[in-house]
Amino acid sequence: MRAMVLRRATTPLELQEVPLPRPTDDQLLIEVEACAVCRTDLHVVDGELTEPKLPLIPGHQIVGIDVASGTRVGVPWLGWTCGVCAYCKSGRENLCDRAKFTGYTLDGGYAEYVVADARFCFPVPREYSAQEAAPLLCGGLIGFRAYRLCGGARRIGFYGFGSSAHILVQIARADGREVFAFTREGDVAGQQFAMSMGATWAGNANDAPPEPLDAAILFAPAGELVVSALKQVVKGGVVVCAGIHMSDIPSFPYSLLWGERVVRSVANLTRHDGLDLFERLQTLRIETARSVYPLEQANEALRALRAGEISGTAVLTP
Ligand SMILES: [Zn+2]
Ligand SMILES: [Zn+2]
Repeated sequence: MRAMVLRRATTPLELQEVPLPRPTDDQLLIEVEACAVCRTDLHVVDGELTEPKLPLIPGHQIVGIDVASGTRVGVPWLGWTCGVCAYCKSGRENLCDRAKFTGYTLDGGYAEYVVADARFCFPVPREYSAQEAAPLLCGGLIGFRAYRLCGGARRIGFYGFGSSAHILVQIARADGREVFAFTREGDVAGQQFAMSMGATWAGNANDAPPEPLDAAILFAPAGELVVSALKQVVKGGVVVCAGIHMSDIPSFPYSLLWGERVVRSVANLTRHDGLDLFERLQTLRIETARSVYPLEQANEALRALRAGEISGTAVLTP
């Protein structure tokens, strides 16, 4: 099969012919229809996540056809957990020390085929095409986990308005919440995109929103945004860091945290998060904005994402 392979961090992916993967008894062999590109893929390729298997086929937002049954399935970031550790046994398999991750410690979906543990795959709603559904598998899923950690917040700030944010704004709006979108300084196109997707307000990362925020989600991997967001959230508010990698957080006065403000991260997802999201989507139709690239152009898709040129999600098709 054809695959885009990372041989070494910080080098471009190489198009290669590799053997078709052979599923174990627990795994499905899946013919990939679409694989959405995530910022985490950039962190892997750029060497900011330092423990990938190598060589590696990246990609963890996969939709494809289970070859054995002919049904469409989705493959997320969480690829395997041990099932016996204290985290797994307490409903927190997202924190499993031995967890394996698709497109990082397991080969992923930048290929014509992938194998995945059937217990970690999701059924994909019938109403969605493969390309529509692929961005839901991480941007949707882990974003949904971050969103739920905002509790009952009515006004939520989204710092960085990319793949995950453009999905979550639709869920937040359907729940009667208001979303305030913060983009890179002067990113007028990004701010217009946020407004077109349902944001109440859009501005620059250091702007003050017209009303204080009850919570904020940081999608962009810039540590200084923690401080920017803390300045805007009310007492008791939470700042949720949704990315797997972030630059260092600068020091800040304790008064910004005082008043029971909370800063926390979101790590990975549980299968329960996925089932809850897909159940939610039975009554809520999410529209994903996509830029589609042929598999061979994965490096160009990654470059465009790194440059902030993608509105919504980049999706690879084999
Ligand atoms: Zn475990
Ligand atoms: Zn991801």
